[in-house]
Amino acid sequence: MTNTPIIVWFRQDLRLRDNPAFIAAAETGQPVLPIYILDDENAGDWKMGAASQWWLHHSLTSLNKNLDGNLRVYHGDASTIISDIITETKATTLYWNRCYEPWRIARDKGIKSSLKDKHIHVQSFNGSLLFEPHAVLKEDGTPYKVFTPFYRKGCLERNVEPPKPQDTPDAIEYYYATNKTQISDLKLLPTIPWDTTMREEWTIGEDGAQKRLSEFLNNGLNNYKEGRNHPAQDNVSRLSPYLHFGEISPRDIWHETKATMVAQGLEKDGDHFLSEIGWREFSNNLLYHFPDLPRENLQKKFDYFPWCDDQEALKAWQTGQTGYPIVDAGMRELWQTGYMHNRVRMIVGSFLVKNLLLHWHHGESWFWDTLVDADLANNSASWQWIAGCGADAAPYFRVFNPITQGQKFDKDGTYIRKYIPEIAALPEKYLNCPWETPQDILNHCGITLGKTYPNPIVDLKVSREQALNAFQSIKENS
Ligand SMILES: Cc1cc2nc3c(=O)[nH]c(=O)nc-3n(C[C@H](O)[C@H](O)[C@H](O)COP(=O)(O)OP(=O)(O)OC[C@H]3O[C@@H](n4cnc5c(N)ncnc54)[C@H](O)[C@@H]3O)c2cc1C
Repeated sequence: MTNTPIIVWFRQDLRLRDNPAFIAAAETGQPVLPIYILDDENAGDWKMGAASQWWLHHSLTSLNKNLDGNLRVYHGDASTIISDIITETKATTLYWNRCYEPWRIARDKGIKSSLKDKHIHVQSFNGSLLFEPHAVLKEDGTPYKVFTPFYRKGCLERNVEPPKPQDTPDAIEYYYATNKTQISDLKLLPTIPWDTTMREEWTIGEDGAQKRLSEFLNNGLNNYKEGRNHPAQDNVSRLSPYLHFGEISPRDIWHETKATMVAQGLEKDGDHFLSEIGWREFSNNLLYHFPDLPRENLQKKFDYFPWCDDQEALKAWQTGQTGYPIVDAGMRELWQTGYMHNRVRMIVGSFLVKNLLLHWHHGESWFWDTLVDADLANNSASWQWIAGCGADAAPYFRVFNPITQGQKFDKDGTYIRKYIPEIAALPEKYLNCPWETPQDILNHCGITLGKTYPNPIVDLKVSREQALNAFQSIKENS
């Protein structure tokens, strides 16, 4: 047996259980050198946002603990760093799990080919997806652009069940490498403490992810199909940041969900939940086959859309001060927790692009910076979907009405009252339209519109008309 290490490069797979690269390395019996590289140099525009950096700090800390303190962290260009580590340790083998963001694919290809020239064995594995993009294509060899056939025909009907998850290996021999960089040296934490409420919200790391999954399967899966629309209900898993950072594998989620569905007779809810995991696969598939997804409209006619440029409106949206309670509640949930419920993401997204007529890039960037689950594939695909310019997009004329959406999906106002305490005393009837409240009730509730809570920044009817006219103009010119 050789004493040189196998390097395992952790990236978006910050876990030990069902981590194919790590498990394969452990099985060789050679000493394992686990590394993480914060590679802002190659990330370019897609350097992690502030909330993701915050999550990453805690995730690396947790991973390092599970690796008995053997994780070595680095900051800089991955290619140079890996080459230096190989020189220092004389390693001849490098394992990693594949990533699907265009900048990572380009970088990894370059690293693989230069190491091959140096006779270093590089092996990559699938650790992040159920069905990898190169394997899911239409019969004519082109990529799917519509979710339902992608999921039904491309994924389910192939009858290739995702492999069962692998257990965490035990008794691993680690390679001791000197490296002075500590996780804290990566400077991922905020210098001003905006993370206080976020810290209370999450248990970051692999153990937290497993706990979240079992809590959801035991308490949230029952009624998921309907309950997932109601932001105040505990019917969503909140697994998205764990999935993004790879603290849990989708295979684990898939098989645990299947077992629960059968055991508890929850086929309908379970199938629906798995189809949402399918949406994640679809987004990754789109990003892989259409690498311009984060910046370019998939439907080219939207290149001529007459977007507005109202910075004040953008600021009001970002800070939850639009005067539309369900929109403001969502934007404040995002700021306070780093997360926003999917139904509300759709409402605030529609409001930004179809009532404020602001480019979807503004929404995408704000989410990129503030979401703990900011994910290039899911975020870009979802914003394109909301804006109507995506592959399988919501039709442009579908404009979410924030008043009726709030009344329908936050019926008793629990969600709005939680995030907008200044209007919490309003009776249900006025909670989604405070400007319609009679003056004596406003006085009684201690609310002065325009002062303690904003008046609506835009007229829903007028702005909807403007949006539809703008859409008509690009339709006519295309
Ligand atoms: C404008 C907009 C931006 C979004 N940006 C992101 C993002 O940056 N990162 C992100 O992970 N999701 C994003 N989503 C998708 C979705 O809102 C989140 O995945 C979901 O709310 C996460 O909560 P959950 O884990 O409780 O979801 P659950 O309902 O419990 O779903 C389980 C998992 O399925 C996946 N999933 C669910 N819905 C979707 C969807 N519509 N598209 C793709 N995958 C989905 C997620 O991985 C999620 O964790 C966005 C949606 C919109 C409308």
